[in-house]
Amino acid sequence: MSTVASSARATELAGRLDGLVARIDAAVAAAGRPAGSVRLLPVTKFHPASDIAILYELGRREFGESREQEAAAKVDRLGLPDAEWHMIGRLQRNKARAVARWAHTVHSVDSERLANALSRGACEALDAGERTESLRVLLQVSLDADPARGGVAPADLPALADVVAAAPGLHLAGLMAIPPLDADSDACFANLAMLHTSLLARHADATELSAGMSGDLESAVTHGSTCVRVGTALMGARPITSA
Ligand SMILES: *Cc1c(COP(=O)(O)O)cnc(C)c1O
Repeated sequence: MSTVASSARATELAGRLDGLVARIDAAVAAAGRPAGSVRLLPVTKFHPASDIAILYELGRREFGESREQEAAAKVDRLGLPDAEWHMIGRLQRNKARAVARWAHTVHSVDSERLANALSRGACEALDAGERTESLRVLLQVSLDADPARGGVAPADLPALADVVAAAPGLHLAGLMAIPPLDADSDACFANLAMLHTSLLARHADATELSAGMSGDLESAVTHGSTCVRVGTALMGARPITSA
């Protein structure tokens, strides 16, 4: 084992990862779903690149980040050739071009303007050889009609899906949602599952459902999540940052 993987932090992360994988497997079994039908996306935002290096040595290849600059710095510094980086946080249009250079998937697309900016960015990155595949896009759905939280209103989802599906350089991969803090997560994820079923009727390969975090992943798995985004339960509390 390398020095990285034998550190105290590596031991801690390895133990938490085992526990989390077991927790996800149990949720999948309890929901009567096939083993392996839910992926874990470790959310590494606010945690150092060295933690990502440890998770990589432990076999993880997908990482979720929420801020463009922090993510781009980690991508550059680590240079992991087969890692897939997911942008899960709110994204300003002026960061779309930068994100399109490093992101494998963006989970937080909620407007046509953002989709178009990502499409331009992805096409540029493809032309420049900075990426070889279309940028996977998940549409973030608002489950509480609060525009401040981000997410497209369910009524506007079909039109946005059509825009993304037709946009050069983008691949419409599915949906994402974050239940409101005080909401009943079961009801939210049930609602999300219905929206996903409608989306699939028109866009059959938009099969990804990014739902569930540290506190509510069992509920999300019950309602068809294919990707749980887990930070705290794996990494521990996020360091306080001023940024
Ligand atoms: C931070 C974050 C997560 C992880 O949340 P935890 O509760 O720490 O597991 C998941 N999804 C999004 C969009 C996030 O910003």
